[in-house]
Amino acid sequence: MVEAVFQPGGDAATALYIVAFSLFIIGIKQGTHPTTAKRGNLIAAVGMAVAIVTTLLLDGMGNWGLIFLGLGIGTAVGVIASIRVQMTEMPQMVALYNGVGGGAVALIAWSEIRHGISLGEDFPLDELIPVIFAGVVGSVSFWGSNIAFAKLQDLIPTRPIAAPGQQVINAVLLLAIVVICVILAVDHESPSQGLFILLLVLAAILGNLVVLPIGGADMPVVISLLNAFTGLSAAAAGFALDNVALIVAGTLVGSSGTILTLEMATAMNRSVSNILFSGFGGAPSGGGGGTGEEKPHVSIGAQDAAIKLAYADSVVIVPGYGLAVAQAQHAIKEVADELEKRGVTVNYAIHPVAGRMPGHMNVLLAEADVAYENLKEMEEINPEMSRTDVAVVVGANDVTNPAAKNDPDSPIAGMPIIEVSEAQEVIVIKRSLSPGFAGIDNDLFYEPNTSMLFADAKAAAAEIASEIGNL
Ligand code: NDP
Repeated sequence: MVEAVFQPGGDAATALYIVAFSLFIIGIKQGTHPTTAKRGNLIAAVGMAVAIVTTLLLDGMGNWGLIFLGLGIGTAVGVIASIRVQMTEMPQMVALYNGVGGGAVALIAWSEIRHGISLGEDFPLDELIPVIFAGVVGSVSFWGSNIAFAKLQDLIPTRPIAAPGQQVINAVLLLAIVVICVILAVDHESPSQGLFILLLVLAAILGNLVVLPIGGADMPVVISLLNAFTGLSAAAAGFALDNVALIVAGTLVGSSGTILTLEMATAMNRSVSNILFSGFGGAPSGGGGGTGEEKPHVSIGAQDAAIKLAYADSVVIVPGYGLAVAQAQHAIKEVADELEKRGVTVNYAIHPVAGRMPGHMNVLLAEADVAYENLKEMEEINPEMSRTDVAVVVGANDVTNPAAKNDPDSPIAGMPIIEVSEAQEVIVIKRSLSPGFAGIDNDLFYEPNTSMLFADAKAAAAEIASEIGNL
């Protein structure tokens, strides 16, 4: 049906793959800055299209009916998801897509084993080892990502779920996997398909059991780690299939996923092993700080907030997850516009883990046309806080919690925060005194210079903007 154009490993195919990788790398580089991120995404997508078309035109491609069916289903799912999925649901979408990638790699590994066995020839070790690696890591990633998706989508409880002796069970599973890998490698002249399937099943159980005990708040870090795993397993599959495109793309995903994981862990001042094994971050938001008591605090309305803001010289807006939930970015921009009309200097303080994924706030604020130079990183804005008249915290909580600095026993101890309490006045817009995703009370709400404005962030911001306009 479609004529083969390229020879696998031939000059033309290799040249086109190099074009594709270059586009991936340029895309990733541009993705690191909000002003170029959209273009970067498009460039990487073009690179992927070049890689896919080149691969499909390689000599030896088979069942075109199935290939087009797969392309059709994949395209339909991708287009519908990109239209329907909300920004706040992005982490679980990434988990799902990542899982599918890992699952595909595990299936490719299995099909390579079947193919090798059907040829009845000695399975060279340099081919078998990457196949085994791809099968195990792809399977762990598929099942682990599914659990991450289910937790973030609230299909299963987000709190840590662990059986007694869970770590021991995991260690035994890991040992069994290693033993089977060694048996398969020793027996490489005729590896057992049954043993390989057992390997995939054990890796699947391990993937489930490793992710279940991790709390919802840590899930984005886990997803990024599993993403790195999927990349590495794809690279291993590339070695087995002798496909340069898979090797390079997999390595890019593996390395960028690893860097992102480490950066997120650093921003939370925690180690990756603490995130994986401590069972932290499962308390649901809305728990009232866990004490059930309401401490004294000052509560104000939108009109009071508007007056405080309108008569300030400098205002810093500190967005968090609640801004994303409420989709308050446009309303907040209106507040800033009204203030700027009155000569007030307005900046935005961006904490590296505000929201539920890296860059979450940057993306939302860019969507509302907030000028990039007004977005200040935490290290840049903290020294300015004492010279700020009003800090407005919009749906943020953990990233402003002074317990990170003052309470060495706090689960977020050591996490750098936006030091809003240094400002002359603080206005916190959120619906209640409930904790954030870490599930801990926030003393900021009870400090003498803090006023609480209990409301949905979008509704409150719209009201404040109109009140300032009326002043
Ligand atoms: P938090 O989860 O700490 O707090 C968000 C607050 O938003 C809640 O307390 C909630 O209070 C409020 N909120 C929810 N809906 C609304 C609404 N409609 N209007 C107004 N307020 C609302 O968010 P932060 O951004 O401060 O912190 C992020 C957390 O996520 C940190 O613990 C971080 O470690 C974690 N995390 C982030 C990652 C990232 O990459 N960004 C990765 C991994 C973890 P209320 O219910 O009272 O309204």
